[in-house]
Amino acid sequence: MVSFTCRDLGIDCSFETNGTTDCEIMKKFIDHAISAHNMPVLTAEVMLKVKKAIKKTGEEGVKTGA
Ligand SMILES: [Zn+2]
Repeated sequence: MVSFTCRDLGIDCSFETNGTTDCEIMKKFIDHAISAHNMPVLTAEVMLKVKKAIKKTGEEGVKTGA
């Protein structure tokens, strides 16, 4: 599982979402950004920030420590 919150992007917003893939989160965030933040065009820079802000949670192959 992966999760994302707007706060991770430095946006003062309580939106949070989760899904199984980064791609799924991206789609949900884009929908949210359009309706809530009036951001219809997400630049590559924003997308990169979103990718970095996405947190991996749960079991599947998450390596901790190392
Ligand atoms: Zn938001």
